[in-house]
Amino acid sequence: MHSPQRQRRVLLSRPDGVNRAALLHALHRGDRRALARAITLVESSRPDHRDAAEKLIGAILPETGNTVRIGISGPPGAGKSTFIERFGLAGLALGRRIAVLAVDPASKRGGGAILGDKTRMADLARAPGAFIRPSSAGGSRGGIARRTREAILLCEAAKFDRILVETLGVGQAETAVAEVVDMFVLILPPAGGDELQGIKRGVIELADLVLVNKADGELTAVALRTVADYASAVGLIRPANLEWQVPVRAISALEGKGIREVWDDVDRFRTALELSGAWFRRRAEQGRTALWSEIGEALLDYFRASPGIPERLIAVEEEVMAGTRTPTAAVRELLKPFFRQADANPTPAPSLCGDPT
Ligand code: GDP
Repeated sequence: MHSPQRQRRVLLSRPDGVNRAALLHALHRGDRRALARAITLVESSRPDHRDAAEKLIGAILPETGNTVRIGISGPPGAGKSTFIERFGLAGLALGRRIAVLAVDPASKRGGGAILGDKTRMADLARAPGAFIRPSSAGGSRGGIARRTREAILLCEAAKFDRILVETLGVGQAETAVAEVVDMFVLILPPAGGDELQGIKRGVIELADLVLVNKADGELTAVALRTVADYASAVGLIRPANLEWQVPVRAISALEGKGIREVWDDVDRFRTALELSGAWFRRRAEQGRTALWSEIGEALLDYFRASPGIPERLIAVEEEVMAGTRTPTAAVRELLKPFFRQADANPTPAPSLCGDPT
């Protein structure tokens, strides 16, 4: 934690035009407009905004963490938004403050990138204790994770205590989101055996809870069969947490059936993992993963922007693609200027890191 003097200095400096003191004050009041602005700030790639965002995150960090971060994923049409609306409203009725962050890997723009989010979940969006925000992905998997991680922290500083992170689209988003949440919920449509194959095993392995939606009307029977199929599939996977048997349940988001019980699952999951210490281990591991991912991204950015590298990269990529050069040899050559000697145990050159002597 920063000293009070440093914190004050940080809050009063505003070379980037961001009045952090006012923003912080409004965030602490739980002001949703301030929260939206703060998230826009952490999504910005402008260097001065990044500086301001990091200072803001540094200032709020001590107030974050005593929450449950829930990832919600599933194929398009499974009923995620219908579920989130019901589940969010049920959470509000239990006295929770609910934030929903929708992560779309296909969208590279921030601030309202996903049109119609508020109309997708109209009742929840209108509720005073809820906050809904589409979040831009920022391209890479590291980008998704960083922005989502920081947006979660901001929601927590604004006193939201249950953070739902919905992934839109498929692919890289699920694993990125699983890296920043405490519990990963998979929502699936009722489906026969062949359609089940379409859900990647890797995604099922991430799940802490599987919900088969649309268990209503004439879909009830097929939904129950799907539950049985997934229960046996989940049974074959080595559990990520020995203290937690992954439940597979039928729900109807449309009719509100089984939704309240999902909050019970969330509480049971948290209690079980807190008791064993796995809850905090998971967060600590996520911190470590984030650290290494940031190191990797920062080094790559530095490398790509270094003098001469962009031009060399074009030529080297062509040679490697044509098979006239091995990737290993190409990398040795590309990295040579960064090291005193391109050996197996490279020493940073003084021009990059300052002379250690
Ligand atoms: P998403 O793409 O996963 O967010 O799915 P939506 O929530 O937009 O739902 C897709 C479609 O499934 C919509 O037409 C919903 O009305 C319908 N739907 C969602 N939940 C249920 C449910 O529990 N039962 C039935 N029968 N339909 C549902």
